[in-house]
Amino acid sequence: MMHFSRIMIFFLGLQLAAAGLAPLAEAKETKRVLILYSQERGHPGHDLTEQGIRAVFLSNSFFDVQLYNEYLDVTRFSGPGQISLAADYLRRKYSGMKIDAIIAVYPYAVDFLLAARSPLFSGVPIIACETLRSYAENLEHSPVRRLVTGTVVDDNMTDFIAGALRMRPDTKRVALVAGTSPNDIYGEQVFRRGISAYAGKIETIDLTKLSMAETLSRVGSLPPGTIIFYESILRDGAGEIFVPREALSLISRAANVPVFGIYDSFMGFGIVGGRLVSFEQHGKEAAALAIRVMGGESPAAIPFGGDKAYVNLYDWRELERWNIPESSLPAGGVVLYRQVSLWNRHRAEIIAALLLILAEGGLIFGLVMNLHRRRKVERSLADSEERLSLAAASAGAGIWVLDIDTGLFWGTPEAYALFGLPPDSSVNFETILNLVHPDDRNIVQNKIWHATESDSGEIFSVEYRLVLADGEIRWLASNGRRQRLSQGQPLRLMGVTVDITDRKKIETEALDARKRLLHMERVLLMGELAASLAHELNQPLTAILSNANVAGRLLNSDSPDIDELKEIVKDISDDNKRASAIIRSLRSMVKMAETTRELSSINNLLADGISLIRGEAVLRDIHIETHFSDGLPQVLVDATQIKQVAVNLLMNAVESMSDMKGERRITVQTRSADRNSVLVTVRDTGKGFTEEEQKDLFEPFFTTKRSGLGLGLSLCRSIIESHGGRIWAENHRDKGATFCFELPAGDER
Ligand code: ADP
Repeated sequence: MMHFSRIMIFFLGLQLAAAGLAPLAEAKETKRVLILYSQERGHPGHDLTEQGIRAVFLSNSFFDVQLYNEYLDVTRFSGPGQISLAADYLRRKYSGMKIDAIIAVYPYAVDFLLAARSPLFSGVPIIACETLRSYAENLEHSPVRRLVTGTVVDDNMTDFIAGALRMRPDTKRVALVAGTSPNDIYGEQVFRRGISAYAGKIETIDLTKLSMAETLSRVGSLPPGTIIFYESILRDGAGEIFVPREALSLISRAANVPVFGIYDSFMGFGIVGGRLVSFEQHGKEAAALAIRVMGGESPAAIPFGGDKAYVNLYDWRELERWNIPESSLPAGGVVLYRQVSLWNRHRAEIIAALLLILAEGGLIFGLVMNLHRRRKVERSLADSEERLSLAAASAGAGIWVLDIDTGLFWGTPEAYALFGLPPDSSVNFETILNLVHPDDRNIVQNKIWHATESDSGEIFSVEYRLVLADGEIRWLASNGRRQRLSQGQPLRLMGVTVDITDRKKIETEALDARKRLLHMERVLLMGELAASLAHELNQPLTAILSNANVAGRLLNSDSPDIDELKEIVKDISDDNKRASAIIRSLRSMVKMAETTRELSSINNLLADGISLIRGEAVLRDIHIETHFSDGLPQVLVDATQIKQVAVNLLMNAVESMSDMKGERRITVQTRSADRNSVLVTVRDTGKGFTEEEQKDLFEPFFTTKRSGLGLGLSLCRSIIESHGGRIWAENHRDKGATFCFELPAGDER
């Protein structure tokens, strides 16, 4: 009854401490606890154990515990000489100091204490931490039990093997890997006992006590239907010393089948997982036992613990590597190292996209491919992805995947940032589309639609504006392509998006400058025309007016002079003819204006014209296609004027599509009409014109545009006709207009 209440107080104390209270802090009595480890300092299992021990001592409310750590380093220093040396050392070191309890970790340390017992720490209670069940059972019958209690790494093998077989149901063989140190051999015995329950069903391949080189070569060529049980290798068959989990890492990398091991200190080093022995839990239990013993309980009265010191852990990367479904894991299993983001789940596709779009990505990947063997590359895929995403991130690019069937969108953190979305938020296509500027939504939607429909998997690119939460406009360019790796797999678009706001700013500025120039050109042209018209027509119009005034006066008189009136009417008619002649000569002046003509390639002139309006076309998402014939005769032309014709026709085509939905395309084609001339056609997918309009298209001042001058086409006609060619327009039945002109071949003339 007395023990029970003490235990209650102990646990109560733990809880209060955990709640941040320390009511008994001042009353704490100092106790000295020696932890005697079997292996060397830094042995991973020991580190975890120590964490557990420290955590409990630190939060206990009874004692102020001072810890002393000693490491026997048995794997490297064993043999009778070493034992007595170590015993001697400890005896001298701790003479004159009262140790209240010893926690001995792994059976070897317990053996050491008991063997060297008589003068060493005599009478001090021992907590044997992480011993085996059989070892504890032997102790039960020994007189030393009165001083020893502890925790047992329970013989959980049968269960553990059953768990492994659930994950790999086609297992027919178990390859057993263990080293030659006493600890390795303890573990190997546990494995063998556990596997004996499967005699006749599961064959054992003995890979124990081999050199590391041989172990690695054997684990790489195991037959299908095999799994590896790695116990531990502290020392291999060739006498070389290892840290067990580092040895595990080598083995797991070389293995062609999954590796299982039973200690949580192996997690992350290449085991699949299972119900694992938790060294930290053992440490906690051992420390709790030490507190009880130091509080006055007799060790003999405390049964060995450790039966709850398990954790149910699995390594996601290993599950992925060996295609082990998570449904085969027992309930409550915790999967560690999971890479949850879609970026990881779709790493193959994303890497493919990166390879496509980022030459650097390919370089890095190629480098990795060359540096490592294929298996190693698989293992280090996670590293490569990180580097690739870093490459994309440092280029400011966001990578994203859009699931067409569900509309779900996933992206790298950079992608979310570019779209102005909080990272990892749940987003679908609709959300993104709503952020797009209303004027650009059609373009984006069309592109996505085309890309999902196209079987060729060609890359699409689209430039569009995004309206950010603060109303600011951000220009983005997205390139992507459709992905369907095989039939039945979801249809996805994968792409890369970058911020092109700066580039757009520069483009817009250039465009504005060009527009101002063009406008000035038009104003000048108008001004010139108006000035010469005014000047030339002033004279006949003034004469017509004064003649008309005179005629008016004559008609108002009582007896108008009919002959004089006849003369006046004739003068008016003559002046009118003169005015018409002025207009005609003005037109012919435009026609005949002095020009410098040279033999030129029509294709080059058109290409120059196209380059002048390309910025405008990109801005309006218009695709310009050229079909230029080779081997056309040259034309003898004023290059500037012909370019002006090209620009006028192209700008008209651009403007004709400004309100159009759907495809926006201009096709410029050249071919030889007959042997003596070349034919140019500029076709658009715009709104075309009515039959009524067609008659006047080339007339000066005919326009259907709000701010049009109606001079472009008339000027084109003047220019083409002054070159001995002709120009005309055709409507299409389906959509858009074609403007054509023909020029005579230059070399013939
Ligand atoms: P402006 O462009 O100033 O109106 P133009 O002489 O270049 O003057 O064009 C005259 C008219 O011809 C335009 O207003 C338009 O109605 C029509 N037009 C010209 N090009 C096209 C085209 N590609 N598609 C449809 N209509 C056109």
